[in-house]
Amino acid sequence: MASAKSAAANSRLSLIIVIAVVAVVAASVVAVMVFGAQTAADTAVVHASDGSVRELPLDQTGTFSVTTEKGTNEIEVKDGQVRVVEADCPNHDCVEQGWISRAGQQIVCLPHELWIEIVPAEGSDAQDAATFDTVGS
Ligand SMILES: [Zn+2]
Repeated sequence: MASAKSAAANSRLSLIIVIAVVAVVAASVVAVMVFGAQTAADTAVVHASDGSVRELPLDQTGTFSVTTEKGTNEIEVKDGQVRVVEADCPNHDCVEQGWISRAGQQIVCLPHELWIEIVPAEGSDAQDAATFDTVGS
């Protein structure tokens, strides 16, 4: 009786260990996915009419003001997204475009000749970036 009880306890213990191992492995996979994504953050590239280019990594949070002779655009980066919060352009199309977060998306402020594009993190989409460079030059 004692040995049967012990065997049952052992198998229950084995089951707990298996569950614990699976949980640890699953947690590691999730951690790699989450932290891997963070280290390879996409970048919002802001092109202004004066030819200046600002790179704003989307894993940061902040507000950036871009002023040229055309006017001022207030750009916000938050939660992996970017948008124009405020602008003194006449139509405010750039503000109305709202948040963008995916590589390839753009916000354009025509009156200020300013545009924001999201470029993928280095290495994650290298082939597309190379193709884009060739087309642009
Ligand atoms: Zn605008």
